[in-house]
Amino acid sequence: MALTVHKYGGTSMGSPERIRNVAKRVAKWARAGHQMVVVPSAMSGETNRLLGLAKELSPERTTAQLLRELDMIAATGEQVSSGLLAIALQAEGIDAVSYAGWQVKIATDSSYTKARIESIDDARVRADLAAGRVVVITGFQGVDADGHITTLGRGGSDTSAVAVAAALKADECLIYTDVDGVYTTDPRIVAEARRLKTISFEEMLEMASLGSKVLQIRSVEFAGKYRVPLRVLSSFTPWDIDIDEEARSGTLITFEEDVKMEQAVVSGIAFNRDEAKISLLGVNDKPGIAFMILGPVAEANIDVDVIIQNVSHDGRTDFSFTVHRNDYARTMDLLKTKVVPVTGAREIVGDAKICKVSIVGIGMRSHVGVASRMFSVLSEEGINIQMITTSEIKTSVVIDEKYMELAVRALHKAFDLELSAA
Ligand code: ASP
Ligand code: MG
Repeated sequence: MALTVHKYGGTSMGSPERIRNVAKRVAKWARAGHQMVVVPSAMSGETNRLLGLAKELSPERTTAQLLRELDMIAATGEQVSSGLLAIALQAEGIDAVSYAGWQVKIATDSSYTKARIESIDDARVRADLAAGRVVVITGFQGVDADGHITTLGRGGSDTSAVAVAAALKADECLIYTDVDGVYTTDPRIVAEARRLKTISFEEMLEMASLGSKVLQIRSVEFAGKYRVPLRVLSSFTPWDIDIDEEARSGTLITFEEDVKMEQAVVSGIAFNRDEAKISLLGVNDKPGIAFMILGPVAEANIDVDVIIQNVSHDGRTDFSFTVHRNDYARTMDLLKTKVVPVTGAREIVGDAKICKVSIVGIGMRSHVGVASRMFSVLSEEGINIQMITTSEIKTSVVIDEKYMELAVRALHKAFDLELSAA
């Protein structure tokens, strides 16, 4: 008997009718002999609605107290959808029970709005499964050591599901969503984008961190750490589709890199519009300068992405980096007040209209010239590259936002993704 975890996203849980369909699908799996744990998201739009209400009443300043209450509020969305799903399962004649994170319990640290799961107690869930029950567990939420409700960050139900699957040593974790798998790139930008039947865990990790929104990045990290077999598939197939066919659909995240004899060099193109670039011009080029600039930024809990320091002239150099666009204004302020005075920077300039486009593929390890091919494609399109960063299995460039779609389309074509991704 296989232990299977299903995760359903907000769209899949979007209405009573859709919840009924989820219940019918889960019931089908349970009747086929699977032990089932289901982790739903809040109904679509609900988390935004709840946070919107909170915003109307919030003071300007973000304090730890405010963040605590945001979690208190946002966590209710998943509690509602979990209870509804349990009722819908019962209506299908399935014995089902729902639990909030604290009831399981899913223990997290206390970083409200972006808490990390520390441990999951599986005793209660196991007892229910042994008694033949389907267990529904709220996604997105947990509880800290002092009993405060926490949430795992937007999109965090993916992580809840994978963590639950890891804790229970589930045979597979199926992430049901409104797309039918992981694509070579976003099909809304490139009509010829293809669904990948498999993608290696490392590629998925890069894709998620580089802006592909299919899975929350922490869920992929979790899957890698605990080797949770993970599949992304559509919740919009008819619920009564043949179960074996369903179990083979979507995209499987694999851990064996050699499964594909002929690995495509590039597996996918990721992009991210949410970035902003900041340059400090003419800073003193001396030991400690990077720390002087980025230390205060890190202290303010702002994530820095691409970093470039130029060659120096006459003891001075230019230092550029990117941050999330939401952090742009705050970072500029911080630099002007705290950093410019001590680094001797001549000028600080910023640009919030940039984006990052990346090519990803484990095949890049064994092929040379992939990055330069990327640069030549971009130059043929007349796109200026502002920054470059590479790792073993990806190359990213920062370019003007207005060329993003053009760049993605040109790269998708140049790397034969329409053909090779089968
Ligand atoms: N409901 C939460 C959100 O909208 C968590 C999730 O859907 O995964 O971010
Ligand atoms: Mg999601």
